[in-house]
Amino acid sequence: MGNLQGQVAIVTGASRGIGRAIALELATQGATIIVNYASSSSAADNVVAEISAAGGEAIALQADVSKAEQVDTLFSTVMDKFKRIDIIVNNAGITRDTLLLRMKPEDWQAVIDLNLTGVFLCTRAASKIMLKQRSGRIINIASVAGQMGNPGQANYSAAKAGVIGFTKTVAKELAARGITVNAVAPGFIATDMTSNLSNTEDILKYIPLGRYGQPEEVAGMVRFLAADPAAAYITGQVFNVDGGMVMA
Ligand code: NAP
Repeated sequence: MGNLQGQVAIVTGASRGIGRAIALELATQGATIIVNYASSSSAADNVVAEISAAGGEAIALQADVSKAEQVDTLFSTVMDKFKRIDIIVNNAGITRDTLLLRMKPEDWQAVIDLNLTGVFLCTRAASKIMLKQRSGRIINIASVAGQMGNPGQANYSAAKAGVIGFTKTVAKELAARGITVNAVAPGFIATDMTSNLSNTEDILKYIPLGRYGQPEEVAGMVRFLAADPAAAYITGQVFNVDGGMVMA
């Protein structure tokens, strides 16, 4: 029996990449997983099938988490079905990379809408439920780009830096009710998001461990932050999973 037996976890953007690995990892601990996705329904179904085949419980729920009405529907569907939410992992994210002078307002807005506003919308919805339960774990996936900047990612780094500030404020607001809020800042992780990068050799120079990370290596940190009592006294923190790129 896993550490998260009887708990309900929503993982946004869990059809692929890091979110998928987090969903699979939390399921191994016994949590019931809501595999949220935007458009990859068959990939989300495959994640659910993988969890079920291993003896776990999961459902796939489509919702664009940058849209307030869709977030409301997502959370009310989960509450109707499972009656509680113990863990929310705000993982869904996109990039629209280009240098500042070429960045169109729509490139800026799309990234802010999902990577920052989506985190706000899902955290607000989850916290309403967690406040009543007097317990909960909120885990936001940030990025090293939000800490050190990255040319071509003004929109993305602004959103991720925003997630870090948001994490600290919400951690202070919710601490008295037994809810912890932390961020995980991955470096370069091998997923669809990074598969088209052309300057791999340059990137590797900045990673002391000399390789990209795997989604499972981020999922291990999320599993720790969700665990009780192991991570019960940790809130408002940012944990880097980046091969040593950022050393504070
Ligand atoms: P990915 O492989 O591109 O997967 C993105 C996931 O987000 C997919 O499941 C996608 O669903 C979902 N998604 C996209 N738009 C959505 C929306 N509007 N509503 C709900 N879900 C949506 O990305 P990843 O590399 O795993 O990244 C996951 C998170 O880690 C992101 O927040 C990213 O910024 C962060 N991160 C990644 C890296 C890295 O190197 N990969 C580094 C630092 C931080 P569909 O399949 O339906 O499109």
